[in-house]
Amino acid sequence: MHKPERYFPTAARLSNRRLHTAPGACSNTDVLVLGAGASGLMCAREAAGQGLSVVVLEAGASPGRKLAISGGGRANFSNREISEDHFRSDGARGAAFCVPALRAFTPEHMLRLLRQWNLPFEERTHGQLFLTVPAQRLAGALSNDCRRYGARIVCRAVVDTVQVMADGTFLATGQAGQWRAQALVLALGSPACPQAGGSAAGYRLAQSLGHGIVPPRPALTPLLLAPDSPLPALTGISLPARISIGNRFWEDSLLLTHCGLSGPLALKASLYWQKDKEITMDFLPGRDVRSLFAAPQAGGQTPRSLLARHLPQRLVDSLLPPDTARRKIAELARSMRQALAESIHCHRLRPVGTAGFKKAEVCTGGVTTDEIDPHSMGSLICPRLFVIGELLDVTGLLGGYNLHWAWASGVMAGRSLLQKDTHE
Ligand SMILES: Cc1cc2nc3c(=O)[nH]c(=O)nc-3n(C[C@H](O)[C@H](O)[C@H](O)COP(=O)(O)OP(=O)(O)OC[C@H]3O[C@@H](n4cnc5c(N)ncnc54)[C@H](O)[C@@H]3O)c2cc1C
Repeated sequence: MHKPERYFPTAARLSNRRLHTAPGACSNTDVLVLGAGASGLMCAREAAGQGLSVVVLEAGASPGRKLAISGGGRANFSNREISEDHFRSDGARGAAFCVPALRAFTPEHMLRLLRQWNLPFEERTHGQLFLTVPAQRLAGALSNDCRRYGARIVCRAVVDTVQVMADGTFLATGQAGQWRAQALVLALGSPACPQAGGSAAGYRLAQSLGHGIVPPRPALTPLLLAPDSPLPALTGISLPARISIGNRFWEDSLLLTHCGLSGPLALKASLYWQKDKEITMDFLPGRDVRSLFAAPQAGGQTPRSLLARHLPQRLVDSLLPPDTARRKIAELARSMRQALAESIHCHRLRPVGTAGFKKAEVCTGGVTTDEIDPHSMGSLICPRLFVIGELLDVTGLLGGYNLHWAWASGVMAGRSLLQKDTHE
C-alpha cells in the first residue's frame, strides 16, 4: 500500500523552530489556519497536537463565535446517527464525499473529547446531542486545548488576500500583518448569520487560489409565504407536520409565524427548497382523514368539528373549503370527502423566498467538493491547501450534523497535514 511521504520536518525537529514573530515583519509558521470556528479550531488542535507550529487567524474578537450561539446556546454538537444521508453536496460524488471523514471521526470520538473536557451533554429527540451547559464552554475548551498544544490564536485578524509564493509557501495578508506558511487551511465558514461572523471571504480566497464555488444559498432558515396566504394569519400555531419537496420529505415540528413557516420542519425543508418550487404539506401525517370520515359515528359530524379534535380549530378553518366544512359528513359525496382529505394531507404552497442569510444557520453551496480529496480535505489543484467545514459545498440537515461535519473535516485535515500531499 502506498505510504504517504511527509513534507514537514518531524515533530521533534519542529519543536526547535516555533513561530517567528517580529512586529511589522512577516511571520512564519508551519500551518496557517484561517478562521477560528468549529472546524478551524479542531484542525488547529489536531495539527498542533502532532507538533506542528500552528497559527489561527480569526476576524472576530474571540474564537468560536457561531459555536457559542449554536443550538440555542447549548450547541447541538453531534448526533447519535450520522451518515452521508444527513448531508447534501452538489459535487459529482454527492454526499458520499463526506464518508471518509465521518468514518474517521464519529460521534463517539466527540463524546470522548467532551468527557475529557468535563462538559456534560444530553440526548434529545432524533438522536440530537446537546450540551447541558453554555456552548461558550465548548468554544473555550477547544481554544484552550489548541493553546495547550502550542497553537496560537490571533483574533481581530481579518485576512484580505492569500498568495502562493514561488517556493510553494503561502502568504496571507490582512489586519494582523503578513504570515507565511508551509500549509494553508481555509476554515472561513459561510455568509450565514453575518452577525456572528458569517462572511463570504472564504469563497473569495478559495477562488483566488483557483477553486470553483457552487453558488451559496441560505439554508436551515424559515420559508416565507406571500402576505395574502392564509397561513401567516395563524401565527403561533405549532404542530407536527410533514413537508415534501419532489421525492424527499421530512416530518417534524412546524411553527406558523407572521411571515411564513418556521420550526425544525421548515428549516429542514429549506435545505432543498429552491426559488419558485412548490412544497406539499401534510398537516396530519400518520393519520388518514378518509378513514376518520369513514369511522362509525363520523357521519353525523361535520368535517370541521371532527378534524378539530386532531388539529387546531383555526388551522382547520383556514384549510377546509367553507362550503363543505360545515355539512354533515354523511351528506358528502365521495369526491367531496376526497377533496377535504387532500386539503389536509396534500396542501400545496409556493413559498416566496427564505428569511435570507441573516436568519440562516448555514448555507448550501461553497467550495466544490470535486476539487477536494475526501481522504485528506486537501486541494486537488493547489498543493498543501486544505478546505474544511461549512466553506465546502457540504451542508447537513438540522440535528447536529453541521457541527459534526466541522469536527470531522477539521480532524481529517489536521491529521493529513503531516503527510506529503499526493497531488504535489
Ligand atoms: C444561530 C446558529 C445556530 C446554529 N446551531 C447549530 C447547532 O446547534 N448544531 C449544528 O450542527 N450546527 C449549528 N449551526 C451551524 C454551525 O454553527 C456551523 O455549521 C459551524 O459553526 C461551521 O463551522 P466552520 O468552522 O466551518 O465555520 P464558522 O464557525 O463560521 O467559522 C468561520 C470563522 O472564520 C472567521 N472569518 C471569516 N472571514 C474571515 C477573514 N477574512 N479573516 C479571518 N477570519 C475570518 C469568522 O469570524 C468565523 O469565526 C448553527 C449556526 C447558527 C448561525
